[in-house]
Amino acid sequence: MSDDLPQSSAARAIAPGLHLIATPIGAARDITLHALDLLAGGDVLVAEDTRSLRHLMEIHAIALNGRRVLAYHDHNGARMRPTILAALAEGKSVIYASEAGTPLVADPGFQLARAVIEEGFDLHTAPGPSAALAALTVAGLPSDRFCFLGFAPTQAGTRRKFIAEAAAIPATLIFYESPKRINRLLAALCDGLGKDRQAAMCRELTKRHQEVLRMSLGELADALRDRVLKGEIVLLVDRGEAPVADAAQLDSALDDALTDMRLKDAVSHVAQTLGLPRRQVYQAALAKEKPE
Ligand code: SAM
Repeated sequence: MSDDLPQSSAARAIAPGLHLIATPIGAARDITLHALDLLAGGDVLVAEDTRSLRHLMEIHAIALNGRRVLAYHDHNGARMRPTILAALAEGKSVIYASEAGTPLVADPGFQLARAVIEEGFDLHTAPGPSAALAALTVAGLPSDRFCFLGFAPTQAGTRRKFIAEAAAIPATLIFYESPKRINRLLAALCDGLGKDRQAAMCRELTKRHQEVLRMSLGELADALRDRVLKGEIVLLVDRGEAPVADAAQLDSALDDALTDMRLKDAVSHVAQTLGLPRRQVYQAALAKEKPE
């Protein structure tokens, strides 16, 4: 462990700049000591959900000491960023928490972090819980490579395209989804990725009713079809077999597409339809254009 680490807040003043802190996704005691120090001593407190942050501070007996908790979320970000940047310009420490887990991970904070970097202020992180990584640790799926895909689009056509792109990613796929939409997502994944890929449904992680189901996509869709689920869900899907390009099929699909599409569009269309990497299709298309 680095010599630099084990110091209490009393021993170390809080640096000016924006501090992004992770908060629990369930169990309140998953907050880190670093995040508690920042909440106790930061000059300005900002939260996606001010009530949740105040509640978390109450649980951990951290006093507000006259500090207000400012709201910063998707609907007021543009209006609030100048206020936060002005506090940073005065040399203050600003602590930002999203409602749960890590800010910027399917949560607000990206635009704020970018603005802080662009204005030349310091940006710090107090890392901690995130549902994506918590789920990866219990899913039983390969963790050497994973791809966070967040919430899939809800519109059917856009979602189909999104899943077709995901099909070719050689990594464990991580989706966030609400219990109301999980069955629709599972049906779409069975269509787009096939029913046989291994998957894990992780619900209410770190909470009393935590549940993890590990089975194939098809079995998961069957198991959940008639259940009324509550709480929060992360769905993980194993990588598929690397697509084996059938040269004849690729050739004929490209011929068809190139009759009425520009090269770039034809490549995208064929890559998506056949679930092949774009690069591979592009190279096949270029080879076609070269004279023998
Ligand atoms: N920033 C958060 C993070 O770092 O994980 C995610 C915020 S996103 C708005 C909320 C989604 O995260 C939920 O819809 C669910 O998919 C997932 N999630 C959050 N807490 C969870 C939990 N305890 N168990 C399972 N999934 C959870």
